[in-house]
Amino acid sequence: MTTRRTETRKGWVLACPACESGIAYTILTNWDAPVPFFYADVSNDVLLRSSDRQRVESLGENPHLADLEHLWDEILSSAPVAPSGGEFGLWTNVKCPHCGYEIPYNGGVRNLAVRIHEPKIVLVDGAVVVGDVDEETWVVRVDVTGGQP
Ligand SMILES: [Zn+2]
Repeated sequence: MTTRRTETRKGWVLACPACESGIAYTILTNWDAPVPFFYADVSNDVLLRSSDRQRVESLGENPHLADLEHLWDEILSSAPVAPSGGEFGLWTNVKCPHCGYEIPYNGGVRNLAVRIHEPKIVLVDGAVVVGDVDEETWVVRVDVTGGQP
């Protein structure tokens, strides 16, 4: 049993629309989207593996959406179970750690192109970011003392 690495990032607090508790979060930006990443269904863990990113590169430049969708499906079909619980999915989104309310992705509109090219990964305090190996897996700690962005 290894102790997971913790990384502290500057972040912000959002009031949960359901229970009004503060949700501490930070954002990771994929400047080279599309990058495959998935939230777990019953926790805020995120699957973000460099091997999956390399698989996108193997599709060549400007891959078709259908090819990306196929790859995203393939990745999910062989994805591990989330360390904090649940399975990774394409349409699952971040949840309030206090009441479990799931914040609707893209205002609740399922747009595949938008989702696959999503550059921003929302990391909620306490979530585990799952990489290919233990060394690339880390726990998110959000530092909200810096004030507003
Ligand atoms: Zn809540």
